[in-house]
Amino acid sequence: MAEMTQEVPRARSQVWSVIIGMSVFHLACLGAFYTGVSWAAVVVAFAMYVFRGMGVTTGFHRLLAHRSFKTSRPVQFLFALAGSLAVQGGPLWWVAHHRHHHAATETEEDIHSPVTHGMWKAHMGWMMTDAAFNEKGTNSRDLHKFPEIKFLQRHYVWLIIIQPVLMYALGSWLGEAYNTSGLQMVVWGFFISTVFTWHVTFMVNSVCHRWGSQPYDAGDSSTNNVFIGVLGFGEGWHNNHHKFPSSARHGLQWWQVDATWVLIRTLQAIGLVSEPKIPLAFRKNTAEKPPSD
Ligand SMILES: [Zn+2]
Ligand SMILES: [Zn+2]
Repeated sequence: MAEMTQEVPRARSQVWSVIIGMSVFHLACLGAFYTGVSWAAVVVAFAMYVFRGMGVTTGFHRLLAHRSFKTSRPVQFLFALAGSLAVQGGPLWWVAHHRHHHAATETEEDIHSPVTHGMWKAHMGWMMTDAAFNEKGTNSRDLHKFPEIKFLQRHYVWLIIIQPVLMYALGSWLGEAYNTSGLQMVVWGFFISTVFTWHVTFMVNSVCHRWGSQPYDAGDSSTNNVFIGVLGFGEGWHNNHHKFPSSARHGLQWWQVDATWVLIRTLQAIGLVSEPKIPLAFRKNTAEKPPSD
């Protein structure tokens, strides 16, 4: 009982920090009307979307949550670091909720299902509820053996705070020579890039459980959506993913663009990644060695 009474106010304060934080991030994007835009700012914003987005898809999702390929501790840390910079929560929190989504898909317990809770809650409303912070993370205990991952979870707020500071320094340094400024780089390279990446990630939970094709009966309403497939670095092939959750490759057909899989294969080619898991029926096509399990 004592634990319960402590847990609720803690969750409530985190809910408020999410509501205020997300509102501030969205409003800050409007700062572009004041700072204007430049090619330098757009390039940095795009680079930050790719770097941090791929940190989430490769690091948080396919590596930490699903253990779909093997790599060294330093590479795992770098991917988890890139994901932690995406302002989507620390790695242990992210993984716990994601594994829970797979375990309880579209039941009452699945806190971001558009089927049981509606589109708004599936997209981003779920993070504004106590349930998003009462998750005890028992399903991600296997990652506790990595102190560096726990470190990222504990200190991830600092990884948020440092980014606008660095963006301001970068914009000031590039300065008039690149027609930019510190403030412009903060708005584009941090706020707009972050909010854009958020909505792409959120659409995997909302759009990809509602609109798109369903080549597989995965026992839920997950869909393949080409729009999110491209923007989400392969994560939009979500019906494939629910059918084969431990596969490192989500775009299973040659035409299903999967940038994350391209990255994993590239890293495998240079020896930084090994044993990516592929569904049995697709192994021959990729000349892939069967996974160890
Ligand atoms: Zn899903
Ligand atoms: Zn997943």
